[in-house]
Amino acid sequence: MTTRQTAATDPADASDTNYDYVSDDIERPDLVAALERRISGDVRFDSYSRQLYATDASAYEVTPIGVVFPADTEDVAAVVEYCAQEDVPVLPRGGGTSLAGQTVNEAVVLDFTRYMDAPLSVAPEARTARVQPGVTLSKLNETLAPHDLKFAPDPAAGNRSVIGGAIGNNSTGSHSLKYGKTDAYVEEVEAVLADGSVTTFGEVTLDALREGADPDGSIRERVYAEVHRILESESDLVRERYPDLKRNVSGYNLDWLVDEAESGSVNLARLLAGSEGTLALITEVTVSLEPVPETKAVALLTYDELMTAVRDVVAVLEHDPAAVEFIDDTLIDLAGDTSEFEDVVGMLPDGTRAALLVEFYAEDDETGREKVDALVADRVGESAVDAIEAHDEAARGRVWKLRKAGNPILLSRTTDEKHLSFIEDCAVPAEHLPEFVGGFRDVLDDLGTFAAFYGHAGPGVLHVRPLVTTKTAEGLATYEEISDRVTELVVDLGGSVSGEHGDGRARTQWNRRLYGDSLWETFRELKAAYDPDWLLNPGQVCGYEPDEPLPDDAPERARRVSMTEHLRYDPDYEFDAGFDPALEWTNDNGFEGMAELCHGCAGCRGDQDTTGGVMCPTYRASGEEIQSTRGRANLLRQAMSGDLPDEEQFDVEFMHEVLDLCIGCKGCSNDCPSEVDMAKLKAEVTHEYHQREGASLRDKLFANVDTLSKVGSAFAPVSNWATKLPGARSLLESAVGITSEATLPSFERETLHDWFEARGGSQVAPADAERTAVFFVDTYTNYSHPEPGKAAVRVLEAADVRVELADHTDSGRPAHSKGFLDVSRNTARENVAELAPKVESGRDVVLVEPSDAVMLRSDYLDLLSGPAVERVARNTYGVMEYLDSFRLDERLAFDAPDESLAYHGHCHQKSVKKDHHAVGVLRRAGYAVDPLDSGCCGMAGSFGYEAEHRSMSDAVGEILFDQVAASDGERVVAPGASCRTQLGDRDDDAERPPTPIEQVARAVRTER
Ligand SMILES: Cc1cc2nc3c(=O)[nH]c(=O)nc-3n(C[C@H](O)[C@H](O)[C@H](O)COP(=O)(O)OP(=O)(O)OC[C@H]3O[C@@H](n4cnc5c(N)ncnc54)[C@H](O)[C@@H]3O)c2cc1C
Ligand code: SF4
Ligand code: SF4
Repeated sequence: MTTRQTAATDPADASDTNYDYVSDDIERPDLVAALERRISGDVRFDSYSRQLYATDASAYEVTPIGVVFPADTEDVAAVVEYCAQEDVPVLPRGGGTSLAGQTVNEAVVLDFTRYMDAPLSVAPEARTARVQPGVTLSKLNETLAPHDLKFAPDPAAGNRSVIGGAIGNNSTGSHSLKYGKTDAYVEEVEAVLADGSVTTFGEVTLDALREGADPDGSIRERVYAEVHRILESESDLVRERYPDLKRNVSGYNLDWLVDEAESGSVNLARLLAGSEGTLALITEVTVSLEPVPETKAVALLTYDELMTAVRDVVAVLEHDPAAVEFIDDTLIDLAGDTSEFEDVVGMLPDGTRAALLVEFYAEDDETGREKVDALVADRVGESAVDAIEAHDEAARGRVWKLRKAGNPILLSRTTDEKHLSFIEDCAVPAEHLPEFVGGFRDVLDDLGTFAAFYGHAGPGVLHVRPLVTTKTAEGLATYEEISDRVTELVVDLGGSVSGEHGDGRARTQWNRRLYGDSLWETFRELKAAYDPDWLLNPGQVCGYEPDEPLPDDAPERARRVSMTEHLRYDPDYEFDAGFDPALEWTNDNGFEGMAELCHGCAGCRGDQDTTGGVMCPTYRASGEEIQSTRGRANLLRQAMSGDLPDEEQFDVEFMHEVLDLCIGCKGCSNDCPSEVDMAKLKAEVTHEYHQREGASLRDKLFANVDTLSKVGSAFAPVSNWATKLPGARSLLESAVGITSEATLPSFERETLHDWFEARGGSQVAPADAERTAVFFVDTYTNYSHPEPGKAAVRVLEAADVRVELADHTDSGRPAHSKGFLDVSRNTARENVAELAPKVESGRDVVLVEPSDAVMLRSDYLDLLSGPAVERVARNTYGVMEYLDSFRLDERLAFDAPDESLAYHGHCHQKSVKKDHHAVGVLRRAGYAVDPLDSGCCGMAGSFGYEAEHRSMSDAVGEILFDQVAASDGERVVAPGASCRTQLGDRDDDAERPPTPIEQVARAVRTER
């Protein structure tokens, strides 16, 4: 029943855990008890759950009444029926990736992604699939792939957004020119109506519609009657007032209805497309499917003037492409400033100010090339300056990535002004794009702000997120004025205020201007037929104006929402961390800027197999919003801005539920488009918690692992026997909370430093040295597992690197991870004092343990400032990075064993984009390497040793174990000590994996 990819049981179910994902502060216990009696799914009305569901990917925030995770249709029906009886609104929710605020409301939220997330069946012959509403589009497409079929609409967030949400918003993506919107693929739905009754909507003839209509009957009969009335008396008005666009998702889907009726029947399931949870709750759906195209071909047309590109869209459309995407100068410049894209941007002709990415589908490569050739011959020289062609998958992927490259940078602003989504997806006929872009820019100029323009130019939908703050009254006025003036522009150009993301809180108020008073009234009548008491996501899509008298039977919630209310940040918003930060926060707005950075896109809710990357392992293991980066970031910000009760801000429960389970993998600092750094936020708050409440003995022990290891090594092997004595591990578990389920490190009597000294230090004389490396031997390598260190010394020396050892072995990482920031700062200071002069004299700093290497190169900059620490950070390398960066391995002769390797990189290394080096070196050494797109191993330093966290550590680890098992590599290699412990413990027969440097040492033909 659970969405978790791995463990059969929930990590929180283990007997020794201290978390259950909820707080003890529960609202409306009466409602909770009543709902729990009625359903088999989960009911959560605690303060954490309510706050977690108070936001989505929009600028809005409304605390819901509570959250329910229904297990099946019966649960949904029971919740809706009871809520209707009690006059409590309800709101269906998928991935919560909506950009206009349609997934936040004062209602009981039903989250379909936990239990109702299965693809139920596929009928390849009929090209249909039956699915539950909570299945992600990526999962659905993974299921369909063996049949060469796909769910065709491709919204960009499809790896965490679900089919219920796609229907709710009538979503589509870059290929809407070819496929249209979701409505075209909805064949039949099972739905729960506002009174809790369950019904099926699908194709119905106009005769059957008339026969089934009864304006005084059941909800279903009233819907039939209202649809029949609209078709009879308002078809002409719909035709007249609906813009003639490929993409329009504002208001209800009446133009589709009217068009369909011409065939003698209508599909009422499709009327739910774009209804944003206001008409019914979908519990199952049959969707139609499209074949996966045989092949694709891409041309990136480049232009020296932005408006030339915009004007060229119509001519490009003549070539019948599947997608035409626009990138403006701002995004090109931003992408060019990133190391990832500087080479692609460098390929653009000098002076490129805009580009059109044009993709064709084709039955074979030759046809694809012909289509691109015809386009290039037609446009280059005529309007475009040049074209970059991309035919193979990798090249196409790169060009598509370029289209999306600049946006994350826009969304990484830590200022109060943000690139907000509120007028970000207007649609106009493609021939009017030049007037639209020109007019929009004039509005932005007049109001003293700016925005990038990008997106789906083919169907006339450009994404534009103006830079505004809603934290001030003036900013808020600008926010509304931009919408007001752009709506005017769009309506004049025959467009729509939403071509993609829906109305929600940002755009509902403009629907009346778009469609006119009469259709606005029709929307309300349709809504009242489905939902006479305005219980379903009230106020969204349509409603009564604030100053309009309400009909006698309409409740206050029947009024439409306003774009300036319920904002996440408004002029009354106040942020108070409650302490002075201990770390350097070099971004704008410092700690507050980082705490407010998450924009809610839910990128941290993607599965490992469909999304890849590191972020966020604990969400992947638990399927819990509170275990995602978004969940943690939201609760932290809300705690510090007064949305959680004061007493909950730093209490034990908050630490256990919200922060302790963040394993500090740093995945988010790299994978999140805004680079939310939750590991750093956690370190800061944990530090403050220690100041207020003191630290546990176990935290102190882990923070001092260097001293403990020194003692352990001095008394080895006795110290090793001690932990193997019968009952010793149980005692350790009960007394200190260190689990008996993970292998503890043992200690070596001869440390790496001893070994190095015994062999007479470096074997490379200064005069013969190609380079000189100061090898910072970390605690674990020195005292517990010197082999990777010895391998590093041998390989480096074989490559003519003179090796000197740093004096210290503690990088400060253990204390830092545990939030002892004063301790880690002192350690950093000592190490920098030793290393900086050495670096200045031309030496490099090299480490074998990735988390310590990243400590020196990255975390030290959060603890110290000034040229010395910067110099050390700049000149610190992981050993494989060192070999690769200076091509030192080219000085070696290899004789690699005939062995293929699965490579699991360390998440800290990935966070600083240094993970690829090992793969390159291993391959050059002669190994076949399968680099796993893996996340964190789950051990995460001390995390997996903590008894109450062991089950979470296991659940995270299992994701990796599955990837290792599925790999072709005969042997897994991993640079991280924690990862090797975790992988070595995965089953009784598992070997503890070697490090990449040991594999390289094995392959070096000769050594000194
Ligand atoms: C980075 C990013 C990129 C995006 N790109 C695109 C894009 O390319 N194209 C696009 O169209 N959109 C895009 N979106 C918007 C959004 O992702 C889509 O609209 C998506 O389909 C919403 O799915 P969801 O699962 O997140 O739904 P939610 O946001 O949870 O819900 C969407 C609406 O559907 C309703 N709903 C959910 N489940 C049900 C149900 N079972 N029954 C009835 N109603 C239900 C909700 O009440 C809500 O009104 C993007 C968003 C982000 C953050
Ligand atoms: S943490 Fe990052 S990826 Fe997750 S929702 Fe926030 S912005 Fe998106
Ligand atoms: S550091 Fe890792 S576990 Fe913590 S929020 Fe970020 S991705 Fe998730």
